[in-house]
Amino acid sequence: ATPTAIMVGMGKGAEQGILIKDAESLEQAKKLDAIILDKTGTITEGKPEVIAQQWFVQETDELRNILYSIEKSSEHPLADAVVAAFHEQAVFLNGLGITNMPGQGVYGTYAGKTYSIGNIGLLQRSEIIVGPEAEPWINKQLELAHTVIYFADNTMLLAAIAIADSIKTTSSEAVRSLQAADIDVYMLTGDNERTAQAVARQIGIANYRANVLPAEKADFVKELQNQGKVVGMVGDGINDSNALAQADVSIAMGKGSDIAMDVAKMTIISNDLTKISQAIQLSRKTVRTIK
Ligand code: ADP
Ligand code: MG
Repeated sequence: ATPTAIMVGMGKGAEQGILIKDAESLEQAKKLDAIILDKTGTITEGKPEVIAQQWFVQETDELRNILYSIEKSSEHPLADAVVAAFHEQAVFLNGLGITNMPGQGVYGTYAGKTYSIGNIGLLQRSEIIVGPEAEPWINKQLELAHTVIYFADNTMLLAAIAIADSIKTTSSEAVRSLQAADIDVYMLTGDNERTAQAVARQIGIANYRANVLPAEKADFVKELQNQGKVVGMVGDGINDSNALAQADVSIAMGKGSDIAMDVAKMTIISNDLTKISQAIQLSRKTVRTIK
């Protein structure tokens, strides 16, 4: 590979809003057989909004404050949505003990009690059951393709919050152009099955997996690599960093977390997924000049 062609390629990439850290990923991009897309913040805007909330116990100022304060201590985009929604009705409590559970949610300890906020997997860890009184409301929200997050103490479900995150207008087109280039497109998400299915269907992805933990995202990359495929991973979060590190070509969203951008060899500044196809074309042109 001539260094000059690579330099030119990287320069062109930068002009198009694609930052490329190394020569190797620019060369590898044209060989991609499969691309894995993270859902939240990658396919979707990552600007979630709280749509509805439902309490299954008496809603109190203290519980609201605990919920608000735990989420204020988290950097997850869903946490930001909760903070924005509760901002005017809650105050921040000092002295909370916070434990992040990447891909599942957060634990917070307050006044000797542990609270959890996150997905169904986090509830199951604490053996908390979603009772029949909660199910109808939750099912209704899931059918609307909303993400439901659960707020529980150490014994029971306290409240559920429905959050909507719209799909980027360019995501379908991006998937179509990758598929047209004979690349298998997959979606992985830590979100629930029904929301995952709704999003995948809307953008034309047949192969998706829900309730996936960060380490399992990386395992899936490996699984495809073991089938002899050159695999690209596209993500925005801390929860994607293992998978990004494992992939042959790793792409981070410019508006995502710093960790994702540190690990990934390419960054799409504008967050627009159609840039992936552009990066592949750039790779083709660059490698052609090299030969
Ligand atoms: P994705 O893989 O789609 O980017 P994540 O792995 O970041 O999603 O998160 C998976 C799920 O974990 C979310 O859908 C949510 O239910 C739960 N979760 C993670 N962090 C939080 C948080 N701070 N507050 C509430 N729920 C959270
Ligand atoms: Mg994400």
